[in-house]
Amino acid sequence: MARPYNGKSLTQQLIIRVLGAGLAGSEAAWQIARAGLPCTLYEMRPARTTPAHTTAGFAELVCSNSLKSDSENTASWLLKHELRRLGSLAMQAAAASRVPGGHALTVDRDLFSLAVTSAIESEPLITVVREEVTAIPEDGITVVATGPLTSGALAASIAGLTGSGNLYFYDSISPIVEAGSIDRAQVFAASRYGKSLDGGDDYLNCPFTREQYDALVDAILNAQSAAAHIDEDRAIHQGKVPFFESCLPVEEIARRGHHTLRFGPMKPVGLDDPRTGRWPYAVVQLRQEDQRAGSYNLVGFQNYMTFPEQKRVFRMIPGLEHAEFLRYGQIHRNTYVNGPELLNDTLQLKSQPRILFAGQISGVEGYVESIATGLLAGRHAAALARGIQPQPLPRATALGSLTHYIAHADPRHYQPANIAFDLLPPLDEEARIRFKRDKKARHAEVCRLAIEAIETMDAHV
Ligand SMILES: Cc1cc2nc3c(=O)[nH]c(=O)nc-3n(C[C@H](O)[C@H](O)[C@H](O)COP(=O)(O)OP(=O)(O)OC[C@H]3O[C@@H](n4cnc5c(N)ncnc54)[C@H](O)[C@@H]3O)c2cc1C
Repeated sequence: MARPYNGKSLTQQLIIRVLGAGLAGSEAAWQIARAGLPCTLYEMRPARTTPAHTTAGFAELVCSNSLKSDSENTASWLLKHELRRLGSLAMQAAAASRVPGGHALTVDRDLFSLAVTSAIESEPLITVVREEVTAIPEDGITVVATGPLTSGALAASIAGLTGSGNLYFYDSISPIVEAGSIDRAQVFAASRYGKSLDGGDDYLNCPFTREQYDALVDAILNAQSAAAHIDEDRAIHQGKVPFFESCLPVEEIARRGHHTLRFGPMKPVGLDDPRTGRWPYAVVQLRQEDQRAGSYNLVGFQNYMTFPEQKRVFRMIPGLEHAEFLRYGQIHRNTYVNGPELLNDTLQLKSQPRILFAGQISGVEGYVESIATGLLAGRHAAALARGIQPQPLPRATALGSLTHYIAHADPRHYQPANIAFDLLPPLDEEARIRFKRDKKARHAEVCRLAIEAIETMDAHV
């Protein structure tokens, strides 16, 4: 039996609104209807559009038509497998609109959007309202799924709820490399002047000679940039984007002068190389990712080079000659909240649990991750409306690991994440030894455990 909260009547509590009919919002609304509850889905297009959307359809794929790998036992496949298992509308639409794409699940974007739009429009429990929402509703349950290009008025309303310091408008992410692919003989662990500002000692330092530094700066300046996605990205190429000074792309820093990087993210001061007893000419610092087992972030190396160029250029860093990249750097317009500061494992705002976040704005990156958080927020919103405490999915699953990352990553360095094996819990000691030399077998085992967890989880989750 639902208990009233916030002094609202039961009828007011039962109102569920979903803001934004993109990938996350459409999936959330569908899940609420599948739970047998009515909801209202708001979409501002076509009356008002975003810099990336071109149609009035729901779940429009704004750039690539790929929902990433569908090869068994990859992390992206696991996430899709779990979504299919839990009755995702987007996964059904993808199956119906699939086009050949090798190992990837690629779709005809128009058919995909059409399949989602018609399913939603013909669902009697979903009322579609085509208008811009300019403020977070003050009653009922709200799923905020307005995406990376949330309109200005609503973004201001969200900032009022979260504090403007916890809502970001520009995304700048640095590459992440697999720990096992770092050449430990070349790097050294140390924090500046033997003290870490974070109170931790997790930095690995890649030391540069003058010649190595000169070569890296030249390579950065001459590297090929990624194709522009949106107006904002195009402006990057003309140098017009007002980057935040605290997270400038490395190309931009290098352009300001040959030595600027040495006084910025590649500053060597206070870092004694134990092999020479001296500070190197320059360093690249690698920071262990707290919530991502076995991976390191290239501190301050956000950039917008093409992915192959990042691989080529950053493998010039001493110690990273054979680095395996789990994620590449990127920069683009992206509205998202600081998940660990604001959200719990069930995507509810800690300060107002009747408000949930889903999709890119909740702090994930990617189409499938947006669908995934939409599915979860929809299920959790339905539970709330029934007076049931929402429960996170098991940590062993890709879905559970994604929300675990959102809620528990380090809020001081929060960056949106794609699903990857380093977000899932590491295998136990025995399994690690058993599969020591076989990465494929390790991944297969992680997937097996995830599927087992989802098959046996409590039906109410
Ligand atoms: C330019 C660009 C390219 C991208 N390319 C890729 C890619 O190739 N592959 C990939 O995996 N990911 C990509 N992403 C990241 C991400 O996966 C997509 O943005 C994805 O669509 C996010 O899903 P979402 O549901 O969070 O947001 P969206 O799909 O953008 O949905 C949000 C919806 O909310 C609506 N809306 C916004 N404000 C309001 C309001 N105030 N009132 C009512 N409605 C509102 C919007 O019109 C939109 O329909 C890209 C992002 C951008 C910005």
